Amino acid sequence: MTTTTSNRTKFWQSQDAEHHLHPFTNHGQLRKKGVRMITGAKGIYITDSEGKQMLDGMAGLWCAQLGYGNEELVEAAATAMRELSYYNLFFMTSTPYATELAAKIAEKTPGDISQVHFACSGSEAVDTAYKLVKYYWNMKGQPKRKHFVARVGAYHGSTTVAASLSGLSGMHPQFDLPLEGIHHVGPTPHWYANGQGLSEEEFTDVCVKAVEDKFLELGPENVAVFLGEPVMGAGGMMPPPKGYWAKIEALCRKYGILLWADEVICGWGRTGKWFGSEYYGFQPDIMTMAKGMSSGYQPISAVALGGDIADAIASNDEEMAHGFTYAGHPVAAAVALKNIEIMERDGLVGDAAQDRIDYFQSQIRTLEDHPLIGQVRGLGFLGGLQMVADKETRKAFDSEVDIGYRCRENCFNNGLVMRAVGDSMVLSPPLIITKEQIDELVTKARYALDLTA
Ligand code: PLP
Repeated sequence: MTTTTSNRTKFWQSQDAEHHLHPFTNHGQLRKKGVRMITGAKGIYITDSEGKQMLDGMAGLWCAQLGYGNEELVEAAATAMRELSYYNLFFMTSTPYATELAAKIAEKTPGDISQVHFACSGSEAVDTAYKLVKYYWNMKGQPKRKHFVARVGAYHGSTTVAASLSGLSGMHPQFDLPLEGIHHVGPTPHWYANGQGLSEEEFTDVCVKAVEDKFLELGPENVAVFLGEPVMGAGGMMPPPKGYWAKIEALCRKYGILLWADEVICGWGRTGKWFGSEYYGFQPDIMTMAKGMSSGYQPISAVALGGDIADAIASNDEEMAHGFTYAGHPVAAAVALKNIEIMERDGLVGDAAQDRIDYFQSQIRTLEDHPLIGQVRGLGFLGGLQMVADKETRKAFDSEVDIGYRCRENCFNNGLVMRAVGDSMVLSPPLIITKEQIDELVTKARYALDLTA
């Protein structure tokens, strides 16, 4: 913040520093630099307490598919709140909103996904899926299948289970994680960073073999599930190498291991298809989803099940001892239903969106000629800009340079929200972004890169 910071902002900054602990924040730095207060948002722009407007290239936290201040969603929430401000889904009750949303999810998800269980956040959905996997194998008389195999570099959330499943080592030591029975397999399936000297296909085979080796080391009969994000998001926006998911799917089928797609970012149109698994053409047994399902207007998430795990749980004649008070909240479910209806009606996913997606992808790739950028990657409305100290050798910046932080601040100060993950800048704009706004985004990104170089 500059010396002209208003008294209102200064007041909030001091209150915040005194009383507020933030997610994923260095509180020492927060106290020194002062929090940035976001006070309003409309369309794809957010506004801070100094009246500064920024194009939100991240759709909040990868979630505001319809952007901000959509009146139809506001109305849907208000109507539902008037009709049925709250009711729960426990003990054989439901609400029209939750039931209709479950059916809609079953319709939109690929293949035979048929059963939906609601929660409130991505992490809760991940925790729930973890429990349902255990429940399933216990029910099937295979209680030895207790090992969960996930990927180094993946993010699956912040609760104890979800953080344990996340393959980001920085998330573990502060909290004595991960839990037992959770395994992370390297390399991260990111060809540019980890596959030097290999063709893309060769690198795919390295990544898949590492998973098979882990299955064999644990004994495949002891492995419950393989879990992955269709495209790794919060770890740095890393699309997998060619053929990766087809081979992982075949591997899981070979050993009778469940396949779980964490679609919290990739779901609901982010890849240009309804789900990332649809984009890559594989059939998960389990899907976790949140974020774009309600465009972030209300907290709601879901676990969706197909195949035998769906049948086994849905037909089991005993109480499933799991659930959350606010799961599938009527207001959140009403908003999610309206959100999906608008995405369908306005052609924000699939063929109707392809022209704008192609434009977004081609325009962000123009940044590849920038001296700081080693690689631009992306699909759908996802983009990743890899910054490197040396384009030829792909040498990374020394950590003291903190290139990501510097670039993020240069973006912020010049009207663009772009997130830094290590040395990568990541983009995940609202699905409603227009071509003119894509131009604005890319112009601002280039300017911020110029300031950072
Ligand atoms: N799974 C993935 C793939 C995510 O990206 C996230 C959040 O970014 C989560 C799970 C956790 O979601 P939440 O922050 O809503 O708990």
